[in-house]
Amino acid sequence: MRTNVPLSGKDICEKLVLKCDKSTVYRTLNSLFDKNMLQRVIIDHEVKYALRDKHNANSAQEADHVHFKCMKCEKVICMTNLLVEDYTLPEGYVKKENQFLIMGTCKECQ
Ligand SMILES: [Zn+2]
Ligand SMILES: [Zn+2]
Repeated sequence: MRTNVPLSGKDICEKLVLKCDKSTVYRTLNSLFDKNMLQRVIIDHEVKYALRDKHNANSAQEADHVHFKCMKCEKVICMTNLLVEDYTLPEGYVKKENQFLIMGTCKECQ
């Protein structure tokens, strides 16, 4: 909750002050993902997780936000103010999750 970057299971294990079993971390991530509390973004073949955000203060529904990857410094940033639209798919297509990554140059590298 305190980070503005999406984290992988490995990242979380490394950041934990209290060391716990890796499989506990992965199991927790899976269970939070199943409960729609997390969104995933796959960056360079690595699955990273981020908290889903409330649409607005009055909405109980959480939404996926856009991620941005800088092509110079390789940093990935949560763009929590940019929510992924609820696109209407053609008939017969069923959405399971959004993977929305914008590539470009970050503020610092510009
Ligand atoms: Zn950058
Ligand atoms: Zn994010």
